Amino acid sequence: MGIRADYVTRPREWIASILAREPRFLSAAQIHQGLERDGARVSLSTVYRTLDRLQAKGDITARPDADGEVTYMLCEPTRHHHHAICRSCGRVEDVDCAAMEQFAESLRARNGFELDGHAIEFFGKCGACR
Ligand SMILES: [Zn+2]
Ligand SMILES: [Zn+2]
Ligand SMILES: [Zn+2]
Repeated sequence: MGIRADYVTRPREWIASILAREPRFLSAAQIHQGLERDGARVSLSTVYRTLDRLQAKGDITARPDADGEVTYMLCEPTRHHHHAICRSCGRVEDVDCAAMEQFAESLRARNGFELDGHAIEFFGKCGACR
């Protein structure tokens, strides 16, 4: 791999590796701090641009934090699942959607409402913080 190719792929690999070891949502600034700790010299604007690209590819998911700042996490948005987010440490566990099938069924029976989509996040305390 030549110098030019490294220049293009490295920020993406660096950012993916920061996200891969943090099972929680991180802001662009936090990712940038992680890169600096690793000695990777990537500008904040490159971080934003790379995050946009990773998101467009479907490698990461984004959500606004409590202050409205966008945060990012490595995820498979194409595989339908939900997130259980620890209020103490921010750890995110993937949760499958089996219970939602029953809910959709009862909504159809009771309200006549046909569910064709939903967005749910769960909050609480993870195993380590309980
Ligand atoms: Zn996920
Ligand atoms: Zn926790
Ligand atoms: Zn679901």
